[in-house]
Amino acid sequence: MTAALSADPHSYANFSDVRVRHAELDLTVDFDQKRLQGFVELTLDGAAPELILDTRDLDLGKVYAIVDGDYRLTRATLAQRDPIFGQKLSIALPEGADRVRIHYATRPEASGLQWLSPELTADKRQPFLFSQSQAIHARSWVPIQDTPAVRFTYGARIRTPKGLLARMSAENDPLDAADGDYRFLMRQPIPSYLLAIAVGDIKFAPLGERSGIYAEPSVLDAAAYEFADTERMIEIAEKLYGPYRWGRYDLLVLPPSFPFGGMENPRLTFLTPTVIAGDRSLVSLIAHELAHSWSGNLVTNATWDHFWLNEGFTTYVENRIIEAAFDAERADMERELSETELVAGMPEIATSDQHLRLDLRGRDPDDGLTDIAYTKGMLLLRFLETRFGRERFDPVLRAWFDENAFGTVKTDDFLVFVEQKLLNAYPGIATHTEVLAFVDQPALPEHTPRTTAARFAAVDRARNGWLRGGDPAAIDSSQWTTQEWLRFIEGLPGDIAIEQLAVLDARFKFQSSGNSEIAFAWYAKAIDRNYRDAFPAIERFLTRVGRRKFVLPLFTDLFAKDAEFARRVYAKARPGYHPITRASVDAVVRP
Ligand SMILES: [Zn+2]
Repeated sequence: MTAALSADPHSYANFSDVRVRHAELDLTVDFDQKRLQGFVELTLDGAAPELILDTRDLDLGKVYAIVDGDYRLTRATLAQRDPIFGQKLSIALPEGADRVRIHYATRPEASGLQWLSPELTADKRQPFLFSQSQAIHARSWVPIQDTPAVRFTYGARIRTPKGLLARMSAENDPLDAADGDYRFLMRQPIPSYLLAIAVGDIKFAPLGERSGIYAEPSVLDAAAYEFADTERMIEIAEKLYGPYRWGRYDLLVLPPSFPFGGMENPRLTFLTPTVIAGDRSLVSLIAHELAHSWSGNLVTNATWDHFWLNEGFTTYVENRIIEAAFDAERADMERELSETELVAGMPEIATSDQHLRLDLRGRDPDDGLTDIAYTKGMLLLRFLETRFGRERFDPVLRAWFDENAFGTVKTDDFLVFVEQKLLNAYPGIATHTEVLAFVDQPALPEHTPRTTAARFAAVDRARNGWLRGGDPAAIDSSQWTTQEWLRFIEGLPGDIAIEQLAVLDARFKFQSSGNSEIAFAWYAKAIDRNYRDAFPAIERFLTRVGRRKFVLPLFTDLFAKDAEFARRVYAKARPGYHPITRASVDAVVRP
């Protein structure tokens, strides 16, 4: 028996009756016990006999309802635990209650928190804590209406051991001393999945007027160099889509176990260190997370079924920022790489999950986290852009952000908007059916605009010339960027001989590449061809990096090729992985 879910299929909250307007957190960070302990006070709009919240694996203490400033103990009931959705918490609300205070502690296994011992950090001196709340993990560290449909402001007082710095997805003062007592305020209303906290030995370096970077001391200089273009990207995005509405934009580089590339926590993007390539070639990730300041954070998918409204828009905006910050060739190359990856991965995605509009009822919303939402979503916007032209399309996209700012949207809202502002406004250019083909049909519609990056043709010629018996020394790669290298490696034939891989490795040192994307592409090839020479390097990579995008496919392929080796490496790597990454790899590397 599980409790009934609400208007959001991934939340129990009764937000149609009563809504959280503000959350005030008071938490102590206990690294020894791996717990956050304290309380949250929720300010409510609306009235109902009870307030229903989402929780997972929380230890509850006293719960108060507050009537006219008077704290009254009230009844709080936890329902049975659902493995995906957690535990529904029902709190009795006496007449006139406009706030509740919930005392609680998190558990060490909280799915939204990772507690790292010093060995798992870059500097190996202090422990580290960080959160990852998207999609439905905020409930494992704050009892809350854990649905993107509800926006609230928040404040927080966070106590940590002295010497460690706490940061949140809120106003952070770069001048804060690491005295172990921090206060935060988030004035703009956000959905729960953007609640974020990190605590560690973190230092700050400014990047511009309103942007800067936080990282462990040994990483700070390299990170500041890598992301020096941040301020310029903010200006570009503002020119395209209107003002940046969140005050500061800072970046926080996390330890290598961070499961994702980045997380768009407002005011403070969380980043994997694997994008620090030394040559600023992987900064499209910054463009992506920054783009979320419009798509996702400002205009938010109402439920996870409409995740493409967050990620497809963001992937589109990311590519526009890259084009303006660098040039169209680079934007084309990045887009074509994504399109190739989408098409290659399509057969592994269930047909019904190839739609932009998903039906994730009863399922973990992370199931929707595929290239469909990102790349197919981007391609729908590209379709509109190419048909209507930028002079018509760009103002419409900007209007989407302006008119829905600090609101939530569903796919139908998008369809109505496009119909009014484009299809009907400029008749005869595109049809509703053509748009719907992206939204409710599998695969890519025939009318999808596909990218052919001019510079990739030269890469293909160089690769093919060598494959026909040429000298690898004749491959002129002196001007190649990361994107061209990826094209080169990914285009190697499926039956390439191990000797040929060895020749390339000797010449280009792919095995020991410090560029995580290039190394990953090479390792995938090496595993596929059982090129054992590369396996020690693969083992080192997998035990150093916990980004799921890399480790999940590598372990999947390794397990198929050499299960024993995969098990041995995973046993070593697993303790350093994030719970999200572990859950994914556990399903693949079976005992
Ligand atoms: Zn994103």
